[in-house]
Amino acid sequence: MIYDDNNIFAKILRKEIPCKKIYEDEFVLSFYDINPQKKIHALVIPKGKYIDLDDFTTKASASEIVGLLKGINTVAKKLGISVDKGKGYRALTNINEHGGQEVPHLHFHLFGGEKVGKMVE
Ligand code: 5GP
Repeated sequence: MIYDDNNIFAKILRKEIPCKKIYEDEFVLSFYDINPQKKIHALVIPKGKYIDLDDFTTKASASEIVGLLKGINTVAKKLGISVDKGKGYRALTNINEHGGQEVPHLHFHLFGGEKVGKMVE
């Protein structure tokens, strides 16, 4: 599959459409989901052009991979949902059609601020 430069998160990265930013560094951008499913629902995306976790794991550099994981941790801390500050959260990424992925730019959902319920419903 080829990365679609016109996907909505690519447009957010290019600042063509706005987002409610939570955090940004050289590797990641984090912002609130437009349609929150839990009390806190954040998204963390890599700045590189990766379609999903498989694509990222295959092609990304070691520093990009570390940068994304560290970014998730930093955002969780910022939101007060990390284990040291809160009660925990769920980090989830959907991959392709069977995974229910809608936006074809890798993103992790962070759900928290309350008990998030069963993993698969
Ligand atoms: P997926 O189903 O691909 O894992 O999740 C895509 C997520 O992106 C959904 O939770 C959806 O609400 C969110 N989303 C879609 N369009 C926008 C947008 O324009 N801005 C923001 N902040 N979130 C969006």
